Amino acid sequence: MPIGVYYHPPLSERFWRHVDKSSSETGCWLWTGCKDKCGYGKVGIGRRNSRCHRVSWELHYGKIPDGLQVLHRCDVPACVNPEHLFLGTPADNSSDKIAKGRDRTKGSMNGTAKLSENLAVKIFNAVMSKEMTQAQAAKKYSLSDSCIWNLVNGRTWKHLNLAAHYAAAPTGQGREG
Ligand SMILES: [Zn+2]
Repeated sequence: MPIGVYYHPPLSERFWRHVDKSSSETGCWLWTGCKDKCGYGKVGIGRRNSRCHRVSWELHYGKIPDGLQVLHRCDVPACVNPEHLFLGTPADNSSDKIAKGRDRTKGSMNGTAKLSENLAVKIFNAVMSKEMTQAQAAKKYSLSDSCIWNLVNGRTWKHLNLAAHYAAAPTGQGREG
């Protein structure tokens, strides 16, 4: 048998060890393990990291059909409750960015790892104050358009309450455009 088979716990065991089903008022099952910088949980499978909501889907419903993505109804990236997940096409996930003709290379998703909380706040404020467009922010900080879009639309970094802070700030005039 290959090395590792004896002591490496099965995926389902490693998965449930990091799921908190009780602390969310909305019924979200929150991933308490490692997360990427867009807030999605990640779990190692073999040598790769997979996003936890995808793993949850496969544990409950079976293999994700080719070409489909697992999306959140609840918009909580760290949520792995299968009842909050649904399958969609990449177009469902990013219709906004495609509609605007700003779909950049998939490789740029790797840039999401560079987004820290401080930077998230900075980018949000810059875009909301029209200091820069989402496309300009994506380019300047080497982030994917979808990462910026999710940030600006409150799909990620919810815990920072960016919109509330922005509205409360003295320089927050013109928030509605
Ligand atoms: Zn949820």
